[in-house]
Amino acid sequence: MIPSQILHNTLKENFGFEKFRSNQEEIINTILKGNDTLAIMPTGGGKSICFQLPALLLPGITIVISPLIALMKDQVDSLKANGITACFINSTQTEIEQQQHIENLKNNKTKLVYIAPESLSYLDNAFSILNISLIAIDEAHCISSWGHDFRPAYTNLGYLKNRFPSTPVLALTATADKATRQDISNQLNLRNPSVFISSFDRKNLSLEVRPALDRVKQIIDFIESKPNDSGIIYCLSRKTTEELAEKLHKAGIAAKAYHAGLDAELRSKTQDEFINDECQVVCATIAFGMGIDKSNVRWVIHYNLPKNIEGYYQEIGRAGRDGLTSETILFESYGDLIQLQKFASQGQNAEIQLSKLERMKQYADALSCRRKILLSYFGEIVTENCGNCDICKNPPAFFDGTIIAQKALSAIIRLKESEPLPVIVDFLRGSKNAYIYEKEYQNLKTYGVGIETSWQDWNQYLIQLINLGYCEIAFHQQNKIKLTPLAKKVLFEGEKVQLNTIQKANTDKTVSKEIKEKVVSNSLFESLRKLRYEIAKQEEVPAYVIFSDAALRQMEINRPMSEEELIAIDGVGKVKLEKYGDAFIKAIIAFQKDKKVKTKKESSTYKETLALYQEGLTADEIAEKRKLGLSTILSHFAKLYLDGASIDLYQFVSNKEVTQIKEAKIKLKKPTALKPYFDYFGEKMAYEKIRLALAIIEKEENNN
Ligand code: ADP
Ligand code: ZN
Repeated sequence: MIPSQILHNTLKENFGFEKFRSNQEEIINTILKGNDTLAIMPTGGGKSICFQLPALLLPGITIVISPLIALMKDQVDSLKANGITACFINSTQTEIEQQQHIENLKNNKTKLVYIAPESLSYLDNAFSILNISLIAIDEAHCISSWGHDFRPAYTNLGYLKNRFPSTPVLALTATADKATRQDISNQLNLRNPSVFISSFDRKNLSLEVRPALDRVKQIIDFIESKPNDSGIIYCLSRKTTEELAEKLHKAGIAAKAYHAGLDAELRSKTQDEFINDECQVVCATIAFGMGIDKSNVRWVIHYNLPKNIEGYYQEIGRAGRDGLTSETILFESYGDLIQLQKFASQGQNAEIQLSKLERMKQYADALSCRRKILLSYFGEIVTENCGNCDICKNPPAFFDGTIIAQKALSAIIRLKESEPLPVIVDFLRGSKNAYIYEKEYQNLKTYGVGIETSWQDWNQYLIQLINLGYCEIAFHQQNKIKLTPLAKKVLFEGEKVQLNTIQKANTDKTVSKEIKEKVVSNSLFESLRKLRYEIAKQEEVPAYVIFSDAALRQMEINRPMSEEELIAIDGVGKVKLEKYGDAFIKAIIAFQKDKKVKTKKESSTYKETLALYQEGLTADEIAEKRKLGLSTILSHFAKLYLDGASIDLYQFVSNKEVTQIKEAKIKLKKPTALKPYFDYFGEKMAYEKIRLALAIIEKEENNN
């Protein structure tokens, strides 16, 4: 077995992470032992590391089967940002490109190859020559017709195990149900697989359900309070996505619609803009999301009630993959419920669909910790309340609602159980609308007995009475409200009814929009975010590929001002330190100076290096003495030189090289990070040289 220390070092050096998440290390260990493995983890749980890390330790290549091309590109970009060789092969490439990738795989120049099951045939001829160490099958539930994303091409994957009997196969999925699990294992011909099931709890996601009154206004207020946070709003219909995006757009929010009916080019543009932090909000049908790995989705809203808990959990799971606090809100509307019930009862497997919808509704109407309900749905029993759902934060209060119930139930009798909910509310409130007059309801007893209660509150009370079973909705009779036998107890037998106090929408909007924006745009996090965005643009990758929000937050808290401090940040590995370290350290130092924050800590590490240099030690000797890397000491030299210390940088970089780098700086239009220079010189000019030459050039520029 490989010692844990080696696994941890590989994790830190190559991916920048300090610790494994739950089950990652165990999964990696069984793979390295050569066992077949089935890993079940929630979305955002960290599945990728489970095959990416062994890929680095195993001698041959790792094949990753993945269903979506967009996702492959993202993963390959992320791997490359960490200096790991990876490629994908698909039908959009020319034959020459494909051949080149295959050549690199044959020569062990590329460690990981991503491929869709439909494209596996491209590898057929190479299979006998390739040295395959691991086969990872992502989204493995696509193999099962039990699951919700069945893909016919997956069903052929079973042959891989027969063809490579001694190569371990790792199947990964976020689908928990037992039938699918068994199906995956059988169809892939896994041999006695080790099965790992991680907890489905995503503690960083807050859970909230709100009544759908004034949804649009609530949503606008919510988004305006977090002007830089990306989010997704899931809607039931294509039309709603477009209408909502339009309304948000009018309110000055960068929002776009996304659904399967839009043309492919527009869809992929919207998706790219969202991934690249250019479009803040996407209003989408559930068609959106599976193909994206964006780790900094800060919130997910369900504009409509979802059809079932599986879908709901998967959709909210797209928030907060980076582990930072993220919010989810579900708007519950009575109208949606009716519509969904209609769909479900007309579709296939009506009974199952209706009962799933019923569970969804129970979740939305819950009066106890919502997370407990969700997790128990996935078979996980939790005893503690979560503290991060609306019910835990704001436990419901009850009051004696017997009189309210009596009024409502008598109104239903007076109206002969022949009207839907809105008419009952109008009737109770003594509304003078045309329909009431047409039916002459104003002459009936109990008309107007509930005038002192608002329309919205009546609406909520009636829904509570339905949930308590005193009345019900006749879905097949224009949604008329009917009494159940229980109603009699309240009307004639003196039964007391406990109702739930209605929570008023949050009105503490005392912080004005301008102040909020100011606070946000003045933070170090914002400066770092902007820097990240610039670098990402130059490198043509999504911003979160450079550093995750979580890494930027840690930088904001720890304010690393030297390489040795920066590498301690979770998410900063060796290669990223080289490529982006300078730019971020500079930005942090500049921010501190700007804010006139005392930077005692800053100077100490540099001062120590300077003192040793002045004692006559060479860079190597200083590195040795300080137990730091040579490149770290050289980065100190660059900074000290810029600050005016007399250090001869020409001992590390020649005059000619400085001139070349000066030319590159002009040609590349002064890129922010070092990576473009590195690429410009065909990876032949060391990062240290680039860094030191840039310090020389910058000093010159400052002096002119
Ligand atoms: P999944 O495929 O399970 O949805 P990913 O593999 O995309 O999840 O990982 C989700 C996020 O968590 C990514 O941003 C990834 O970089 C991060 N991550 C994974 N493992 C760790 C870890 N051990 N420490 C910190 N972050 C991690
Ligand atoms: Zn809770």
